[in-house]
Amino acid sequence: MAAKSLASCIFCKIIKGEIPSYKLVETDLVYSFLDIGPLSRGHALIIPKYHAEKMHETPDEYLSATLPVAKKIALAIGADDYNVLQNNGKLAHQEVNHVHFHVIPKPSESDDEG
Ligand code: 5GP
Ligand code: ZN
Repeated sequence: MAAKSLASCIFCKIIKGEIPSYKLVETDLVYSFLDIGPLSRGHALIIPKYHAEKMHETPDEYLSATLPVAKKIALAIGADDYNVLQNNGKLAHQEVNHVHFHVIPKPSESDDEG
């Protein structure tokens, strides 16, 4: 399915390079970058290059392309302990209305000290 974009969406703007981001991994279908307000060092976001607000509105081929990128990021940052989170809708704490997956490393206390 062809990429879909929404002019007013900040994550669509990030994909197009209209808003700067710290890019991690990019494929034909997916873009990933560091979260601007990280919950821990290395907190990453992975977004399909298709504007859909929620996961169930996202074409399968874009969703399928997402988790392998999450895996690549987890391996690259050497995070043994981490959360992969995905919020849908206001009540579920979604703030940006372009579907996205968080990869949030959970560093050990000794890592935090360094
Ligand atoms: P949500 O609560 O919607 O699941 O998470 C949205 C995330 O997007 C938040 O963690 C927030 O820090 C991040 N975010 C919002 N705007 C920007 C931005 O312009 N750049 C980057 N890199 N992250 C953003
Ligand atoms: Zn968008």
